[in-house]
Amino acid sequence: MKTIIEPFKIKSVEPIRFTTKEERIKILKESGYNPFMIHADDVIIDLLTDSGTSAMSAKQWAGIMDGDEAYAGSKSFYRFEKQVRKITGMKYIIPTHQGRASEKILFSIVGGKGKYFPNNTHFDTTRANIEFTGAEGVDLLNETGKHPEIRADFKGDMDIAKLIEFIKEKGKENIPLCMITITNNSGGGQPVSMKNIREVKEVCVKYNIPLFIDACRFAENAYFIKKREKGYKDKSIIEIVQEMFSYADGATMSAKKDGLVNIGGFLALNDENLAMNCRNLLIVTEGFPTYGGLAGRDLEAIAQGLEEVLDESYLQYRIRSVEYLGERLVEAGVPIIEPPGGHAIYIDAKRFLPDIPPEQFPGQAIVGSLYIEGGIRSVEIGSVMFGKYDEKGKLIPPPMELVRLAIPRRVYTQSHIDYVLEVILESFKNRNKLRGYKIVYEAPMLRHFTARFELM
Ligand SMILES: *Cc1c(COP(=O)(O)O)cnc(C)c1O
Repeated sequence: MKTIIEPFKIKSVEPIRFTTKEERIKILKESGYNPFMIHADDVIIDLLTDSGTSAMSAKQWAGIMDGDEAYAGSKSFYRFEKQVRKITGMKYIIPTHQGRASEKILFSIVGGKGKYFPNNTHFDTTRANIEFTGAEGVDLLNETGKHPEIRADFKGDMDIAKLIEFIKEKGKENIPLCMITITNNSGGGQPVSMKNIREVKEVCVKYNIPLFIDACRFAENAYFIKKREKGYKDKSIIEIVQEMFSYADGATMSAKKDGLVNIGGFLALNDENLAMNCRNLLIVTEGFPTYGGLAGRDLEAIAQGLEEVLDESYLQYRIRSVEYLGERLVEAGVPIIEPPGGHAIYIDAKRFLPDIPPEQFPGQAIVGSLYIEGGIRSVEIGSVMFGKYDEKGKLIPPPMELVRLAIPRRVYTQSHIDYVLEVILESFKNRNKLRGYKIVYEAPMLRHFTARFELM
């Protein structure tokens, strides 16, 4: 088989500013060894997140110029609404400025004390918006999804038996809706099978609970279904997408992911009364229902992005470029979560640096090393991000110490990815020289964004 090439040509370029290793050692130290504190201009390859970092197409940029900025009834809104309706099949389409705004509106209405919301795994903002109302978010991921070393096709699936048990225990009247996140971002971008979505829906129908999809990476999920699930090989991406959403009563979306734009999101609903309540809240917090928190030009770019993301050659390139990086790392013995998910590679820092204990943040040590070796920005997902303290001030580490390398959409070419690979291998070769860190400053909440470290 021939090389899968980037299915686009480059029309507009953004220069990368190069730094030397000596400069990077100094920059990292001045940033308190925290990648969030490094200026983006001092980064060579930025793998901090795939959110809002996509490259837009010539047609999307043309849409930016063509956007209709009418306050009410903008033509860009109607194009956006038509495309979201084509994908989701939902009756009521409500634009928002990003995913968490959709969540905030939805859960402000259906949440509250004594309510429970099951999901395969809640994303942090979803959980935060649920808990903010006093309700509880619960993760019911299937067992294989919890084991980084087990290779399976659909590690994002929900545990159906646990879902039924959960509904019986809490009472269906206390569960305003059930969610399923495709792909499962917090679980490594692992896909959910159509079979699982269908089974979750059957349970929801039986107990009369609406099913909502957290749809941020719906197209990547559809591509995995096409490649891996029996019966979908000959279906088009749009057919698979439409089937996925046919089982749902509503959806929340951050267009900063599979919308291929830098800002935007939506809520899609079938229930008229809920849609009316959501729109009322939207007017208070985001804006009039034909623009949400967005400019007309943003709606135009999202509508176009939601067409382009369904292109199978794009999805093939997208999923393959992540898989390619994963395969090379595994060949070289670098421990990662297997198989790679749709949008990122996760290095298993416990196996990469077995001699650095969680108290000294092995993931952060790798993040620092990748920056110094090659100017690559990644993020720790382990004790820095999720660690808690017991009464004696001793660290309670989370189950895994990971480093996430999120791949922005359509931004980097294969030679960039090859360079990333070389830098990781260099860092892996010299892993015995890496040192852990201690925290010298931390905020009481979400400390990973602003914490400062010193080398041990
Ligand atoms: C990014 C994300 C969100 C939140 O979207 P924002 O646009 O960042 O507010 C919600 N759920 C999942 C699965 C996400 O990946």
